[in-house]
Amino acid sequence: MKISIDRIKKEGVVDLEYEDEQFQKKGLREFAEQPLKIKVTLRLVGSNNISVKGDIDGEFSLICDRCCEEFVHHKHLIIDEVFELDKKELSERMVNLDLKIRDYVLESFPIKILCKEDCKGICSGCGVNLNTQECKCRFKNK
Ligand SMILES: [Zn+2]
Ligand SMILES: [Zn+2]
Repeated sequence: MKISIDRIKKEGVVDLEYEDEQFQKKGLREFAEQPLKIKVTLRLVGSNNISVKGDIDGEFSLICDRCCEEFVHHKHLIIDEVFELDKKELSERMVNLDLKIRDYVLESFPIKILCKEDCKGICSGCGVNLNTQECKCRFKNK
């Protein structure tokens, strides 16, 4: 989604409600089955900054970094940020909102994605998922 800077300037405040499909590409670590629902209010701050306030809502299919199982994570973010417009945006007079939303959403994910706080992971010896199964090599190694 790109919005004209001059439109925001003229209208003062621009309310947007749209679906964001940029997280639906296969191969992403943060993959969304459905488009994200975005509801934001845009306002210029000075001549080089833009205020983005609103809601981001969606469901992500994530892979746990510890047990490698896929799980669904519902994400609801409140956004209230001021972004600096870059040179390209200022020269094109267009705000690249997708980029800002993408960075904001990605930053909300931890470096290590876990299906649950206390995920037990996979046994390096027998390879079972320790959340659902007993380790089969426990007694052999002792
Ligand atoms: Zn896990
Ligand atoms: Zn084991």
